Amino acid sequence: MQDIVEKLVNTLGRDKVITSGELLRRYSRDFWPLLIMREQVLNEELPNPLAVVIPESVDDVSLVFRIINESNDAVPVVVYGGGSSVTGASYGAYSIIIDMTKLNKVININTYDSLITVESGAKLRDVEDSLNKVGYSLRHIPQSFNYATIGGLIATMSSGQYSTLYGNIEDMVLNMEVVLPNGEVTWLRRNNIPRASTGPSLKYLFIGSEGMFGVITKAVLRIVPLPTSTMYGAYKFNSLEHGIEALRELMMRRIIPAVARLYDESEASLRFGLDKSLLIISFEGYYDDLVRMLWVKADEIIKGYGGEYVGGRYFEDWLRTRFNVEEEIEAVKKYGLWFDTIEVSATWSRINQLYRDFRETLPRVNGVMGVMAHVSHLYVNGACTYFTVLFKPNVNTYWELWSKAMETALRDGGSISHHHGIGIVRSRWLRHELGNALSILRAVKTALDSKGVLNTKSGMFFPD
Ligand SMILES: Cc1cc2nc3c(=O)[nH]c(=O)nc-3n(C[C@H](O)[C@H](O)[C@H](O)COP(=O)(O)OP(=O)(O)OC[C@H]3O[C@@H](n4cnc5c(N)ncnc54)[C@H](O)[C@@H]3O)c2cc1C
Repeated sequence: MQDIVEKLVNTLGRDKVITSGELLRRYSRDFWPLLIMREQVLNEELPNPLAVVIPESVDDVSLVFRIINESNDAVPVVVYGGGSSVTGASYGAYSIIIDMTKLNKVININTYDSLITVESGAKLRDVEDSLNKVGYSLRHIPQSFNYATIGGLIATMSSGQYSTLYGNIEDMVLNMEVVLPNGEVTWLRRNNIPRASTGPSLKYLFIGSEGMFGVITKAVLRIVPLPTSTMYGAYKFNSLEHGIEALRELMMRRIIPAVARLYDESEASLRFGLDKSLLIISFEGYYDDLVRMLWVKADEIIKGYGGEYVGGRYFEDWLRTRFNVEEEIEAVKKYGLWFDTIEVSATWSRINQLYRDFRETLPRVNGVMGVMAHVSHLYVNGACTYFTVLFKPNVNTYWELWSKAMETALRDGGSISHHHGIGIVRSRWLRHELGNALSILRAVKTALDSKGVLNTKSGMFFPD
């Protein structure tokens, strides 16, 4: 493996390949709470990657694979965007990391066709800044807005806080340029079109692939004019179930909110100091009268399910604090606790049972101190429930609570992940969700990456 590293240095140059020191350490983990707990709470030293390559062109990326393929060793390679994966997907111990963040240019903004073309290492925040300057937006705003890159968002099949109205990342991506594990560079289509019936859409091979089929180097995404009209507010409910019914009714009637987040009593109490379930909701668009009409209809529906309007303050609180990630981590640490978040999706008929079972099962795990949740990301058929679990920092507790969570989601007919992806943390449960279809993924993987070097270290996707 050392000769591969030497070859990378000799071919790409010292500036583009980090092989030692504090700089390597920066890549020793992503945002997976297990790794942060081990490093910052249990004071473990995490292993470093073998080397970090920082390409400055697509050709550099291609060259990395050509060098790796010339070797008889199957050295693991991990693509690294913003490193904000919470599942270990960009954890690259003993691997060669490809850091994409120097490929970060906005290539073109085409407001007439509502398209942006960007290099994949561009930070979402910077892309959004460029768009806002010309009155446009992706309207894709995950909580990791300040960290995530376009490539990472696509590779994890990300979902933003405004997904109910604007869709998820898969609804935004039209086309991609990728570097395959054999070093070949290709666009997935020769034209950027709103839709085509030209065989299976290859974009879906890469959306959610977590880097295992190739490196995304450029992407074309749809954009929207910045909304000019917004109404927002909050409603409290006597029970989460009533709130869920109201959300379902809104979606059935196509009264589509931009943001809708329904907190259970525990999370509402922690975040807003309220001892009831709380729905914060907004509508937006380009005409005040249309937005107002949506608001009036939504208000009728929500009140019909017992929602009581409590003003705009809670929505504003959320807006102001929604990216306060570091403060939240410090607050948990102060109480001698640690946490993880588990987002599962389910159809409307299963959400209540799934919520109850999580709340009943997880606290039985020794060391788990609290479970709270909110429902967000709404669809006509169902929604995502996002659980936060507080526990005493301990590796065994961590894996036990994850086992219980995954088993519960599967038993109750939910998906094991709505938007964080599989990574290392969920790999062993994926086959229970996909069944025999996992063999299709494996076949594609083998066809594209016969040495199995790219992003499947630590058994990602295929733990056996
Ligand atoms: C505080 C916090 C809040 C979050 N909130 C949300 C949220 O609201 N919604 C949401 O969807 N996610 C959220 N996440 C998860 C995370 O931000 C997303 O998964 C994000 O998409 C990762 O982007 P990244 O650039 O940091 O990717 P990385 O962490 O660097 O990589 C993630 C995966 O994508 C692969 N990858 C990265 N770049 C490429 C590329 N160019 N080509 C191929 N593969 C690539 C990596 O190998 C890895 O498998 C949150 C994370 C944190 C820490």
